[in-house]
Amino acid sequence: MAALIQAIRGMNDILPSQSPYWQYIEKSLAELMLRYTYQEIRLPVLEQTVLFKRTIGEVTDIVEKEMYTFVDRNEDQLSLRPEGTAGAVRASIEHGLLNSQQRFWYLGPMFRRERPQKGRYRQFFQFGAEAFGIPGPDIDAEQLLMMARFWKELGIDGHIQLELNSLGTLETRQRYREDLVRYFTQHKEHLDEDSLRRLTTNPLRILDSKNPAMKSLITNAPILPDYLDDESKSHFSGLRDLLDSVGLKYVLNPYLVRGLDYYGKTVYEWTTEQLGAQGTICAGGRYDSLVETLGGKATPAVGFAMGLERVITLLEAIYSPDDNPHIYVIVMGDKATQAGILLSEKLRDQMPDLRLMMNCGGGNFKAQFKRADKSGAKLALILAEDELARGVVSVKYLREEREQETHSQTELPAVIKRSCFE
Ligand code: ATP
Ligand code: MG
Repeated sequence: MAALIQAIRGMNDILPSQSPYWQYIEKSLAELMLRYTYQEIRLPVLEQTVLFKRTIGEVTDIVEKEMYTFVDRNEDQLSLRPEGTAGAVRASIEHGLLNSQQRFWYLGPMFRRERPQKGRYRQFFQFGAEAFGIPGPDIDAEQLLMMARFWKELGIDGHIQLELNSLGTLETRQRYREDLVRYFTQHKEHLDEDSLRRLTTNPLRILDSKNPAMKSLITNAPILPDYLDDESKSHFSGLRDLLDSVGLKYVLNPYLVRGLDYYGKTVYEWTTEQLGAQGTICAGGRYDSLVETLGGKATPAVGFAMGLERVITLLEAIYSPDDNPHIYVIVMGDKATQAGILLSEKLRDQMPDLRLMMNCGGGNFKAQFKRADKSGAKLALILAEDELARGVVSVKYLREEREQETHSQTELPAVIKRSCFE
């Protein structure tokens, strides 16, 4: 026998039993975006490596060690996209979309070579939204309200909280960074290996450490809110006023910094305690300098990305999809097969929401009933010689203690409606 080939580690197959969750969430998101007037943008999964280096930052985990990068046959350096914002900004500049305000959303696979574990994969799906050309905290607030609505409508809001911070401007972070480096250098002997490395590359990320041993050191470090410039302060208080006025709850987290360099001012994470260490299900903030970084004219921007796998794990606890057939059509012999196909098409015309599985591939009564039962259908419609001769259809209730019935074809929609749609 030939050797089996397996999927790449950390890249999941989404099997038919899981698909209904994906379809449900994708449909809910598309509807939500329509209600908030965001338009979909679909982008390539492959981009020039330099796009991510310049936007996400050279010394971030993503660019340093997580990207899938290769040299193409013509020597171009390409990378599988590790996130969606860089591509969205690239495309918006390239197609001249930023001359007016824009609200976009995207959904698709992202790639990062991380250590696979529950909630962390090498191919994972992100949904994201971005708004361009709007500087004020009103749009930040609206994006937060939009997601708060989403959690609520999915029914998972009880497990989710919003953590909020402001990163200030680049100058804010530079001043803060100097003091932070001074502080951590004084306590160098207590830094773990990761943090030691970050001390010279990206010291703010030390605050993001998930190592419990680092906790007290971090708690005593200088905090960013003490360094905020006036403009960032007023943006942040404007945002908080808006959230307070509509009653959206949040927790201020002065240690919240993001893993990507392009953020400034507002940053936030939606977190849950239900998913262990992979507790962030959605994260975002403002990135007013990004468009300029990519050669466009200065354009304020704010957006976020949500990890679909993590949200689906929360959803599994409360949502049970039902995509079983309503009806299974059993047919005995060629004539009945012909009549069965005709009947099935007619029922599909009459009842657009009907899920009908037609027995294909023949089989005796016993085999067909077995398939009907396994399909999860509520009713079996039976067509055999006797039914054909009498011009009727037998109806067997597969999930109820109830005698088999015979009905004319015209009666069927009412019978089906009673047992499958009420
Ligand atoms: P984390 O701290 O969990 O690594 P991050 O800061 O790298 O997240 P972002 O780049 O902001 O995350 O991505 C937004 C969201 O995408 C995350 O909050 C998470 O839900 C999801 N996500 C990020 N990386 C992965 C991954 N490797 N597997 C599954 N989901 C992911
Ligand atoms: Mg990460």
